[in-house]
Amino acid sequence: MLVELAIGDAYGGSFEHAYPSFVAEHNTLTGYVQHHGRLGVPAGRYTDDTQMTIAIAEVLVSGRRWTPLLLAEQFVRAYHRDPHDGYAPRFHQLLSEVRDGEELLRRLRPQSDKSGAAMRAGPIGILPTVDDVLYHAKLQARITHDTQAGIAAAQASALTVHYCHHRLGPLSEIARWIDAILPEDVGHGGWALPWPGKVGPQGWMSVRAALTTLATGRSLSGILRSAVALTGDVDTVATIALAAASRSPEVAQDLPPVLWRDLENGEFGRDYLAKLDEQVIRVA
Ligand SMILES: [Mg+2]
Repeated sequence: MLVELAIGDAYGGSFEHAYPSFVAEHNTLTGYVQHHGRLGVPAGRYTDDTQMTIAIAEVLVSGRRWTPLLLAEQFVRAYHRDPHDGYAPRFHQLLSEVRDGEELLRRLRPQSDKSGAAMRAGPIGILPTVDDVLYHAKLQARITHDTQAGIAAAQASALTVHYCHHRLGPLSEIARWIDAILPEDVGHGGWALPWPGKVGPQGWMSVRAALTTLATGRSLSGILRSAVALTGDVDTVATIALAAASRSPEVAQDLPPVLWRDLENGEFGRDYLAKLDEQVIRVA
């Protein structure tokens, strides 16, 4: 799951908010593409989505009881040991300034309804029950996204992985299953409504877009291409969709070898993700 979502993030990151013509020309899965606006960032480098997911996964496998401070510490640690791009500018600035989780919690105003809490929630879906998933997704969301929409998006994102990993039914039913658990959906229509096009910044938009690609996707490569083809915040859509799809028995695990090979592989790159992934899967 972690390598696949990082591939989705790194590949999608090159197309985040890119022009539709650029996406149409380069979204071919033949390799990582240089982002037009991020000169100097090597292709194949993942973004904030994967970095924060790593932090969540590390807390998950630690076996410790989750607290806001424990998670905040890990967000700070993950960033400082290996700074990556893609964070929202104000949060990025704050992360780079704070020394520990206590300072992060003290200085943070967790009023966002954007996608940050949803993009990192995938590993939580491995937990054994829906109640576990809802509780932990909410706890981590409230650190940065203490809004009804921000929390619901994180819970829906984690439930998407939960449904696939625990084989709760066919992919075509996943969004309706989430609708039954999170029915309030804060005024933006149900999770099963197909997402029509460009993906905006709110978390529920990325989750609904990911669910749309999962509803018809039969292969990881097909899901990745259709996620990126939506345009907009597509690294997050691809991260959420591939986290779930990589755990689904219905989805062909066919990401091109070049995307595996060229994913960054420094201290916290591909090999680290693969090892951490083995530990995450054992948590279930
Ligand atoms: Mg990102």
